[in-house]
Amino acid sequence: MARKAHNPGNSGKTQTSEPIASLKEPSLEGSLRPEDFEQFIGQRRVVESLKTFIEAAKKRNEPLDHVLLYGPPGLGKTTLASLVAKHMGVGFHRTSGPAIRHKGALASMLTRLAPGDVLFIDEIHRLPKDLQEELYPAMEDFRLDVVVGEGSRARAMGIPVARFTLIGATTRTGLLSKPLRDRFLIVQRLHYYEPAELADIVMNSGIRLGIEITRDGALEIGRRSRGTPRIAIALLRRVRDVAQVTGTPVVDGRVASQALNRLDIDGEGLTRMDRMLLRTVIEQFAGGPVGIEAIASLLGEERDTIENEYEPFLLQQGYLSRTRRGRIATSKAYQHLGLEPQD
Ligand code: ADP
Repeated sequence: MARKAHNPGNSGKTQTSEPIASLKEPSLEGSLRPEDFEQFIGQRRVVESLKTFIEAAKKRNEPLDHVLLYGPPGLGKTTLASLVAKHMGVGFHRTSGPAIRHKGALASMLTRLAPGDVLFIDEIHRLPKDLQEELYPAMEDFRLDVVVGEGSRARAMGIPVARFTLIGATTRTGLLSKPLRDRFLIVQRLHYYEPAELADIVMNSGIRLGIEITRDGALEIGRRSRGTPRIAIALLRRVRDVAQVTGTPVVDGRVASQALNRLDIDGEGLTRMDRMLLRTVIEQFAGGPVGIEAIASLLGEERDTIENEYEPFLLQQGYLSRTRRGRIATSKAYQHLGLEPQD
C-alpha cells in the first residue's frame, strides 16, 4: 500500500567533501535523521551495546567513555552520535577532522564543552597528527596543555576541560594511530545494511518527504543502494523525480526499477564508477593484482576516495579481493560485466 505524509523539517548537515556527490543531499539529511534509537533501523548489536553503556554511565552518574564508530560513509555514525547525546541528556557538538586546522580551534572547541557533553569528530583520522596528540591529555585527564609566554619565559600550563565524551568516526580503524585508538574504550563497527532494512528506511523517509512509495518500490531501491542508508535516501529522491517527470505519482517496483536504470545504477546497485573500476582492473591490468595508486590515477580519482567510498562495498560483495600485491578482480566481477575471465 502506498503511504503519504508530509514533514517539512529544517535542520541541515554541515558536510565535508563526499565523492558520491550526485547521490547526496546533505541539506535534507538532518530532517530525516532518526530522533530515537527506536527509529534507528538495523545495526542492532551496536545500538544495544550503546544503550547498555549509556544506562551504566547514567547509573554511575558519569559521562560515557569515549566512543569510536567506524564503517563506510553514510551508515549512520553521525546519527548514532547524536542519539547518544540525546539519551545521555547532554549537549551535542559536531565537527570534523579536516575542519580543525590549528590548536586554537581545538582549544576553543574543548573549553566550550559543559560536563558530560558529547564532542563528535567525524573523519577523526584526518585530524592533523600534532592535534591528535593534543587530544590525549584532554581525553585522559580532561586537561589541555598550552604554552604561555615566549622564549625563556615560556611555560607549560594545563587548562581544565570539562569531563566530556569524545565520539570519533572513521571509515577504517587502521587509519588511526594506535595511541589515539587505544584511548577509545568503546569501539563499535557499523556494517552495511540488508536490503529489507534499507527498504524500511526508504519507506520512513518516503513518509517524511511526502513521497508515495510501495513496499516493492522501497525494496527495489533498498537492493540497489550499496547497503547504505544515505544512498538509499538520495536514490529515493532521484526516483521520485523520474516518477514525477514520467507522470507516475506512486513509486512501485516497476517505476523504481526503470528510474534506477535511467540513473545508471545496475541491478546489483553498482554505479558507473564501480563498473569502471572493475573494468579498469580487468582490462588494463589483466584482472590484477594491481596497486590502488595505479587504479586511482587511471580513474582520475583520489586514492582515499577509492579506498573509502568504492572499494569496501566491492570487496564486501566479492567483486574484488585484496592481496598483498594489490587488488584482483574476481570471477564475479567478470560475470557481472559479461566478460570472459583470462587464464
Ligand atoms: P555517517 O555519519 O556514517 O556518514 P549519517 O549518520 O550522516 O552517516 O547518515 C546518513 C543518512 O542516513 C542520514 O540522513 C541518516 O538520517 C540516515 N540514516 C543512517 N542510518 C540510519 C538508520 N539506521 N535508520 C534510519 N536512517 C538512517
